[in-house]
Amino acid sequence: MSRSAELIELSERRSAHNYHPLPVVVQHAEGAWLTDVEGRRYLDCLAGYSSLNFGHGNPTIIEAARRQLDRLTLTSRAFFHDQFADFCAGLGDLTGKDMILPMNTGAEAVETAVKVARKWGYEVKGVPDGMATIVVAEGNFHGRTTTIVSFSTDPDARAGFGPYTPGFRVVEYGSADAIRAAIDETTVAVLIEPIQGEAGVVLPPAGYLREVREICSANNVLFVADEIQSGLGRTGDTFACDHEGVVPDMYLLGKALGGGVVPVSAVAADADVLGVIRPGQHGSTFGGNPLACAVGIAVVGLLNTGEYQARARQLGKLLHDRLGALVGHGVVEVRGRGLWAGIDIDPALATGREVCEALMRHGVLAKDTHGSTIRLAPPIVISEEDLLWAVERLADVLSELRGES
Ligand SMILES: *Cc1c(COP(=O)(O)O)cnc(C)c1O
Repeated sequence: MSRSAELIELSERRSAHNYHPLPVVVQHAEGAWLTDVEGRRYLDCLAGYSSLNFGHGNPTIIEAARRQLDRLTLTSRAFFHDQFADFCAGLGDLTGKDMILPMNTGAEAVETAVKVARKWGYEVKGVPDGMATIVVAEGNFHGRTTTIVSFSTDPDARAGFGPYTPGFRVVEYGSADAIRAAIDETTVAVLIEPIQGEAGVVLPPAGYLREVREICSANNVLFVADEIQSGLGRTGDTFACDHEGVVPDMYLLGKALGGGVVPVSAVAADADVLGVIRPGQHGSTFGGNPLACAVGIAVVGLLNTGEYQARARQLGKLLHDRLGALVGHGVVEVRGRGLWAGIDIDPALATGREVCEALMRHGVLAKDTHGSTIRLAPPIVISEEDLLWAVERLADVLSELRGES
């Protein structure tokens, strides 16, 4: 039995089967490249669902983490520490918001936003206690907690986990009219992804985000943008909302904020919103810890250069040009923005999973979602040559499946 086969067998036997990983056991990585336990190399075209926007082992991020590891890693929020102020001020400046509430995982940032929006609704907007509603979109993915899956429309994510948290209204994604119709005097927030990642990199119609902004402002409702996957450079802008020049009331950040090193998430908002949370009302033992803040400061520093956003924009144009040429050749549709693509494979040809398994044999790691869609989101540090190589491997896989080779 190979080393990989042994480790996969043991993993399957001793871990819960809440994931269905590709049969590859990674041991080492640098930039956009992974090496498995057999010494085989793969191009990483998933980048930890956009957690690795800045690449594996990014020297600036690793150096910041190393330095912090030797000094101080955890205090809890019972005390201040010397990385906290700079992290909050830096991320606040990047988002243009007064305040940061740091947490760890993306789901915790979403949970924080739900709590903040409800409390804001009762204390500021004057919604009767216990009556707050939040408008969310069909096809959403905001995480895995019981409250969050309560408003998921994906049966796999939701079924069997009730009783569900009330207070959410689900409307069609991309329809401003649907949001308008769902809002009443109890509505405290509209929570959406500016681009739906897990749904298959689904872009709303042009102008949607601007309309959502207008509707929220007109109705005294908070616009909460879940930029956990779409934010921090992926789309060619710092935030996907930037594409329409839209500023939400709350940004939810995670994934790449941790630099691929540690889980770091945050809610960014102005003082009139985040100010509703007072001591003892919300928190997390690890939220805003010194190691997380040191890494977060490094990530904010990288984004402040603008280099990653520009690179995602340029490489994204190339990626979408090349992927466009595959439409009609085993590909039904390609969506996306920047270095982020959802590719619908002709279901008559293969499932997304089959395409990802074939890509793996060709040295490219990607992830399927919802049956026949595959997602490409390589680290932004990927070279142009490697990016084109990955698209060629996809073209090879599609011609193999079409029986052309
Ligand atoms: C991944 C993701 C989350 C959840 O983040 P976790 O760190 O896995 O809890 C929430 N929202 C969006 C848009 C995501 O992509």
